[in-house]
Amino acid sequence: MARILCGGACGGKSSCADGAVSCRFALARHGDLHRSDRHPEWRGRDRQRVGNGKSGEPDSCLCHRSATLGPAQVLRAGYTVLEVFFKFETATSRARGIVRLDPATLEGDAPKAWTLFTEVDEFKGYEETVGRRRPKGEVYSRDFSGPNWLDRRVLSSRYEDRDPTVLVVGGGQAGLSIAARLRQLEVDALVIDRLGRIGDNWRLRYHALTLHNQVYANHLPYMPFPPNFPTYLPKDKLASWFEAYVDSMEINYWTRTEFLGAERDEANDCWVARIRRDGVERTLRPRHLIMATGASDTPQLPDIKGLSDFRGLAVHSSRYEDPTPWKGRHAVVIGTGTSAHDIAQDLYSNGVSVTMVQRSPTLIVSVEPAGQLPYTLYHEGRSLDECDQVAASMPLAWFEKLHRMLAVQARELDRDLIDALKRVGFQINEEDETGWQFMYLNRGGGYYFNVGCSNLIAEGKIPLRQYADIERVVPEGIQFRDGLLPADLIVCATGYLGPEHVVGQLFGADVAARVGRVWGINPQTQELNSVFNRTGQRGLWFIAGSFAQCRIMSKYLALQVKATEAGIAASL
Ligand SMILES: Cc1cc2nc3c(=O)[nH]c(=O)nc-3n(C[C@H](O)[C@H](O)[C@H](O)COP(=O)(O)OP(=O)(O)OC[C@H]3O[C@@H](n4cnc5c(N)ncnc54)[C@H](O)[C@@H]3O)c2cc1C
Repeated sequence: MARILCGGACGGKSSCADGAVSCRFALARHGDLHRSDRHPEWRGRDRQRVGNGKSGEPDSCLCHRSATLGPAQVLRAGYTVLEVFFKFETATSRARGIVRLDPATLEGDAPKAWTLFTEVDEFKGYEETVGRRRPKGEVYSRDFSGPNWLDRRVLSSRYEDRDPTVLVVGGGQAGLSIAARLRQLEVDALVIDRLGRIGDNWRLRYHALTLHNQVYANHLPYMPFPPNFPTYLPKDKLASWFEAYVDSMEINYWTRTEFLGAERDEANDCWVARIRRDGVERTLRPRHLIMATGASDTPQLPDIKGLSDFRGLAVHSSRYEDPTPWKGRHAVVIGTGTSAHDIAQDLYSNGVSVTMVQRSPTLIVSVEPAGQLPYTLYHEGRSLDECDQVAASMPLAWFEKLHRMLAVQARELDRDLIDALKRVGFQINEEDETGWQFMYLNRGGGYYFNVGCSNLIAEGKIPLRQYADIERVVPEGIQFRDGLLPADLIVCATGYLGPEHVVGQLFGADVAARVGRVWGINPQTQELNSVFNRTGQRGLWFIAGSFAQCRIMSKYLALQVKATEAGIAASL
């Protein structure tokens, strides 16, 4: 097959099923991310092109065949498809995409496309400074009397004589991914984090934590983990890697720096951002603010009658630190999400008599093998970049279908565990048939990857009670309908108020109203609300999610910021 003809994005000569192609576009037409099941421009014989007909119009369309990327027959979301990677150019960009063809239609002269994905890979004239375009270093390697590389790095990260173009709030994987991407696009970005040391967002979590996904899926952009890193990364190793990453990627990063809020300076098209660094308040005037603050840090506490009468210690899970003082004593953990399970297991493993209280049905997925099913793509032998393209290319309908299938498979794999949990009264969420990935995308939780706590519950080592059976909290514990559960410690692992709450606190009600919901799939765009994409507030962006999401989607976010800065956004 010398040339694959496909729809609008590649010249409009395709024989795609009219109006029935599921598409995803990353910065194609509107300069943003959106998906569609039935792109209107594809209806009828006289359909327009996906490019905007002027600057965005494709110059050329090639069926791309590289060493590893020939067209291949693969199984995607239950369909056997011919998956074809292609590249094309527009006046402003070098772009690429994936089209999936129905193999049964290949014999005739009208192959039918099922899905189409196009993405801007780079803007012409604004390419990343990597590989052949890496910095030459002449400025500090020729002049022996001037400042050397380190002097320049230190000076540059002080921001004494300038403001950053982008202020990234939060230095976890989301903040690091976007900062690294922006740096390669020569956009001046500063990351700030209120914690004391790079990597503390992992280092300060509970003692036994290892990542839940395997190492193959968790690489940060540009700099994959070394091949000897363990399959499940321990938190402290990851924290140290974050430090190495910041250093290698030359990310400007201020620790012990809290973002206090920001107001718009419309006249100068920038923000006036208030920060507190080492206790000293200062303002910065970045043109863009990227919030990478993770889960909201405003704890959501349950309204349990009598909690204020409790004689022991009652804390939100965010304040739980150390099980040792509770050894030999009684603890109750309220909630059955990830934090609840992890804290209960931590307490149990350290000699505390702990009971869990379930508030609502929860999905349980064993961390392996069921939890790893979505990542089998990363074992197909393709490069990380190719796998990421495939992952990004899935239209929502296919993505959902895939996860329905995986949810069924996961339930089968976990059948014995689920039955054992049901026998001790644990309520399993069986209603949500799209599985944990969609729970995560829509609600940010509601499931637990079992790393042992479910077995402890099923074996009765961690007893389980139901929240609906609580009468009230009393000084010596929790009074259930059938008797008293003594407690010295009550941990409320009951989640956080959503990101919208933080937006209101930091930017005020008007900005919060303009931004609207953050996270959760938007039915119109079929993308996440306000995350990785332009928001209703100029200059305010959000990035969050898993390592894989941050790695993949930070590219599109960085390109959108670059397009704005370079003045090419309007022409996309
Ligand atoms: C046990 C466990 C295992 C997990 N395993 C995986 C896995 O394998 N793969 C995966 O992809 N995900 C995994 N996750 C989930 C997820 O990736 C993490 O929770 C991750 O920390 C989210 O990254 P983030 O950068 O969005 O936010 P965070 O890591 O929460 O970072 C946000 C940062 O923002 C800072 N911040 C917040 N507000 C402010 C402010 N006002 N001023 C300054 N700084 C501020 C915070 O100090 C923090 O450092 C796991 C989670 C847990 C608990």
